Amino acid sequence: MTDKKTTVDAGWNFDNSYAELSDIFYTLQNPTPVREPKLVVFNALLAESLGLNAEALQGSEGAAVFAGNEIPGGALPLAQAYAGHQFGYFTMLGDGRAILLGEQITPQGERVDIQLKGSGRTPYSRGGDGRAVLGPMLREYIISEAMHALGIPTTRSLAVVTTGQPIMRESEQTGAILTRISASHIRVGTFQYAAGRGELDELRALADYTLERHYPEAVENAANGENRYLILLQEVIGRQSKLIAKWQLAGFIHGVMNTDNMTLSGETIDYGPCAFMDAYDPATVFSSIDREGRYAYGNQPYIGAWNLARLAESLLPLLHEDKEQAVKLAEEAIGGFTEQFHEHWLAGMKAKLGLFNVEGEAEPEPEDEELVKELLKLMHKHRADYTNTFKALTFGNWQNTALFEDAEFDPWLQRWQSRLDRQEESKEASQQLMRDSNPAVIPRNHRVEEALEAAEKDGDYSVLERLLSVLANPYEHTAEQEEYCMLPEPSLLPYRTYCGT
Ligand code: AMP
Ligand code: MG
Repeated sequence: MTDKKTTVDAGWNFDNSYAELSDIFYTLQNPTPVREPKLVVFNALLAESLGLNAEALQGSEGAAVFAGNEIPGGALPLAQAYAGHQFGYFTMLGDGRAILLGEQITPQGERVDIQLKGSGRTPYSRGGDGRAVLGPMLREYIISEAMHALGIPTTRSLAVVTTGQPIMRESEQTGAILTRISASHIRVGTFQYAAGRGELDELRALADYTLERHYPEAVENAANGENRYLILLQEVIGRQSKLIAKWQLAGFIHGVMNTDNMTLSGETIDYGPCAFMDAYDPATVFSSIDREGRYAYGNQPYIGAWNLARLAESLLPLLHEDKEQAVKLAEEAIGGFTEQFHEHWLAGMKAKLGLFNVEGEAEPEPEDEELVKELLKLMHKHRADYTNTFKALTFGNWQNTALFEDAEFDPWLQRWQSRLDRQEESKEASQQLMRDSNPAVIPRNHRVEEALEAAEKDGDYSVLERLLSVLANPYEHTAEQEEYCMLPEPSLLPYRTYCGT
């Protein structure tokens, strides 16, 4: 990849490697300027880590750039083409309301996409207006930043601007644009798009580009004669199995795991109707459009495997010239997902219970998984709060909850305690592991709603800023966080989310 440098005061250092792919993968497209850009949230720490000058971008210059009214030097705005399975049905998609400004090369030499979401119509907009509404953009900002702080790979949020232009939805809404930062925006759907065109050279170019951008070491370390496209598939399966295990461990429900919303980099992307589970129930669904529970909490690993099978299908012509052989290789790779997911999940669950995973250990104590499952069963029975239950176990805080009063809880506790006693590590080390594995705070739905409401109705961003600062250190377990651990009033349940539009 070339390393063209264009540095201006704000610290922009763009390269545009994606635009070097065939132009079937994108359309050059500028954002549509907006009337009255106003910067309402800005991530100064993230800006600095990207090599940007936070001070220079904090004011009107930032507002102009993040609104798409001004194109920074070196940027090459474009909309990406892609397809995808939405709720199981294949559709042609593409960036209908997002524009990639370019790739910022950070001081550490990393390459990240800078994308404006809500920046106007593109050739892929179909019937849409190309715009986004303030509430959902703030929601993506809060949740993606919370995910990052929780240690879950994710796209990040640099800024939100309001546009000064009302947006027509069911009612009139405030228009806004989110600046999203990501390792790339290459999706399973990008590969489906390439494969669907039936031109092997295009598919190969996309796969080579993705390997170079996200998996250079894997290619370098490959044994002689190993198929690099099989490596690509295996690497993505590896990252996605780890990612989805982290979602499960944190109680995160993505809500719209369409194949266009699954990245090749292994980052979480597209915060539409996502939400964190409160009462533990694998059938939990928040999204109003997911009527059949396709993307329910407990289904996420299966959907992950399903989506990766769509990636594997797209890669078939590159895996082997003999179709049967190709299918066999793809199936083997996909089969590895379940196993890897389970390993990451169990290791994570053990850590949540203060049980150390011994490096090189062939098998965890077989009863460990039973211990985890029995706890989850009890939590399900009492619809115990997922986050607070693990927090209570961390601090030995047996509140008067139905779960802890269940006759079956005491024997479970005894078994857990004797398992803890059997391991070499000290009680302190074990508690530290639990503190580091069980967040005190997650973006609780009623807290997120409260922050959005103050911003949308009164232009008051202080509630949101405070929420962001609490969510920035989820494993600190401070007194200040306590009020953010509290559950919503029953009148606010059941919680529903709507697709971010
Ligand atoms: P999403 O549900 O956010 O993953 O979006 C699915 C597809 O719809 C993507 O191709 C988006 O670019 C497109 N889309 C969503 N909202 C709009 C909009 N307001 N205008 C144009 N395209 C949109
Ligand atoms: Mg999407």
